[in-house]
Amino acid sequence: MTSGITPPFDGSAGVDLTGRTAMVTGAGSGIGRACARALAAAGARVHVVDLDAEAAKSAAEETGGLAHAVDLSRASLVGELPTEVDILVNNAGLQHVAPLTEFPPDRFELMQKVMVHAPFLLLRQTLPHMIAGGWGRIVNISSVHGLRASPYKAAYVTAKHAMEGLSKVAALEGAPHGVTSNCINPGYVRTPLVEQQIAAQAAAHGIDPERVVGEVLLSRSAIKRMIEPAEVAAVAVWLCGPHTGYITGASLPVDGGWSAA
Ligand code: NAD
Repeated sequence: MTSGITPPFDGSAGVDLTGRTAMVTGAGSGIGRACARALAAAGARVHVVDLDAEAAKSAAEETGGLAHAVDLSRASLVGELPTEVDILVNNAGLQHVAPLTEFPPDRFELMQKVMVHAPFLLLRQTLPHMIAGGWGRIVNISSVHGLRASPYKAAYVTAKHAMEGLSKVAALEGAPHGVTSNCINPGYVRTPLVEQQIAAQAAAHGIDPERVVGEVLLSRSAIKRMIEPAEVAAVAVWLCGPHTGYITGASLPVDGGWSAA
């Protein structure tokens, strides 16, 4: 299926973030990497945070940013990350597909640490700088699964719903200080995270992998193609631009109509 975007497309969409510092978690791959690329194209200096040291290094080289190889499930390491950040993109995430009764408890706990606790810690330690400067942008890469559930995704749906709540509290507390906080809620984006899920979904639903994309992944999307990472990054940069300062506490579906149905 063809992409809906016309190259060249860096996602900066005319937004000027010169002089701003951004931090993107999970920026070594997929949506995070596209966000780092788009923020850098808009002029921001980008801290690239990822578990995968090689991926962080190459993303930092590509964007002229600074690499931080950090496991976000370890709170003490999160505490060592830079705090003078104007734009925080909470993006790092992982998936596990299994029925509730078979869901490994340690995997559930890990996913809450990376996708809820780390964003909380990063907000806690970067908000003082944003508040002091009178400007800040928090962009949380949630999911349609922050608004809707699917079977076999207990940890992911729980974590993304928690992120929605965290984002709204940050919006309320940040509003008097020029700080906005929003969620972006993508449907299925063409990234390694989804590619890995196709085999797992095939096993869980008992169907062939080639049927998973059409019959499972895109079954609820009105637009029958996957989203490109750059299309999500463009929304993230737009939320940091000059015309979106009144948007806060919102959850923006980028889901091809999935949540409209
Ligand atoms: P991805 O697997 O391509 O990238 C995720 C990145 O997070 C990887 O580089 C990985 O190394 C990093 N990461 C994982 N655990 C980490 C940890 N403990 N510490 C630091 N970094 C860690 O995935 P993606 O599809 O780009 O997903 C990015 C975000 O977008 C996730 O939060 C995901 O839930 C969300 N999302 C993805 C889709 C989709 O269809 N791909 C849809 C909706 C939301």
